[in-house]
Amino acid sequence: MTHPSNRAEVTRRRWKDVLETHADVRNAPVSDRFWSEQDTWSRDHIRAVQDQKVASVAPFLYENSAFYRARFDRLGMAPTDLASVDDLIAKWPVITKQEMMDDVTANPPYGTYTACGDAEWADRGWMLFSSSGTTGVPRVFRYTHFDRQFWEQANARALHSGGLRKGDSALPLVGFGPHVFAWGAQYALAAMGLPVIPGGGLDSKARVDLIQRFNPSTLVCTPSYALYIASVMEDLGIDPAASSVKTLVIGGEAASGVEGTGDRLKNLWGAKIAEFYGCTEVSPHCGGYSCAESQSGGVPFMHLMEDIQIWETVDAETLVPLNEGERGLTVCTNLCSETSPHLRFLVGDYTMLDSTPCPCGRNHLKAMGCMTGRADDLINLRGIKFFPVQIEEAVRSVPGTGDEFQIRLSRTDSGLDTLTVVVEHTDPGAAAQVAAAVRSRCEVRCDVDVVAPKTLPKSEMKAKRVFDERNM
Ligand SMILES: [Zn+2]
Repeated sequence: MTHPSNRAEVTRRRWKDVLETHADVRNAPVSDRFWSEQDTWSRDHIRAVQDQKVASVAPFLYENSAFYRARFDRLGMAPTDLASVDDLIAKWPVITKQEMMDDVTANPPYGTYTACGDAEWADRGWMLFSSSGTTGVPRVFRYTHFDRQFWEQANARALHSGGLRKGDSALPLVGFGPHVFAWGAQYALAAMGLPVIPGGGLDSKARVDLIQRFNPSTLVCTPSYALYIASVMEDLGIDPAASSVKTLVIGGEAASGVEGTGDRLKNLWGAKIAEFYGCTEVSPHCGGYSCAESQSGGVPFMHLMEDIQIWETVDAETLVPLNEGERGLTVCTNLCSETSPHLRFLVGDYTMLDSTPCPCGRNHLKAMGCMTGRADDLINLRGIKFFPVQIEEAVRSVPGTGDEFQIRLSRTDSGLDTLTVVVEHTDPGAAAQVAAAVRSRCEVRCDVDVVAPKTLPKSEMKAKRVFDERNM
């Protein structure tokens, strides 16, 4: 019988071998269309690799993560019970954020859900990332340099698919905080050999000056910041569409799937959008990304990278797996990390999956309509449920409204919950139009406060737009 600590080492070595066997680490694209061989894999080949990874990661997690070991034991399962994707989906209940939060609370500061212990961190630690913490205890994740090489390649595949090529240069306009988006783009750009102009720690006018002087082809930022900096340029008499910027690499917030927002960005900048979607829990790399076909006029979509992740949708109430074409919440199994692989994590964005081949040549799943609302963000007002993006679409549908807006929920003295939407507009009369647009999209009555253009606060990272004061 193998000594327990040896089993931890043996399963780790096997898992790392599997990761390396199926990786394609390169510093140049395999062809003009594809960064990597994996982009061209058939669905059968993708599934075979997924099966092999599941069979290898299950014993690894059992031996290297107390969180996973306890879960296997509680379910009365052995790691060998998960030998394929079918096993995983049939036998392994989804993991929620709450389970991870409980684990962090009981085992601060890291929790036990990752396979990065102090020894790995000291030996080859790379970076620590953290979930935003807007919905509870922040979950932190320590990654190694072994992970970094796979992270860079996955993100390079995504940016190449989004259209970045030699000759492009990028200006990141993002706070380099503990979130994966900015760092993910930065490391991918380095792996692709594309030059970067640092844009941190500057005000917006100084950043406009960088665009004017150094002519980057690409901005890396949130959608709301891309709208904001365009308005700063216009105030200075500069047309963003006449600038050097031809691609917006955007992440952190939904964009191309939000009616009005994607088009507004593309028209303002005369640029294409390369969307970069993910979440910290199943990172470090992105999950969803654009291709040449994804915003060609039909339903916008993102590809999902299936050789390194397994994506499913589940019913929002029962968490039962749904069929393709049924709208549900996203669940992701991450198979691309030594430190933080995860089995069926409930990411919780609404989308609809489609496995039909894409004209771009990729067979990897498509998330139709992109991701347009995380279950956590759902607003319940007097029993009527809607997402902030539905309000966003209503605001965008009224001509002349500013880029920012706020959703304020409050409770009257008599206990009635009310919704107020704050918009920027030169005409106070726009209130009636906004109220009507909200009513038609969300089936809810609201008050509308009209404030002067450019008076609502802006953010480099996710814009804070929902203020729920009902329980204050
Ligand atoms: Zn495609």
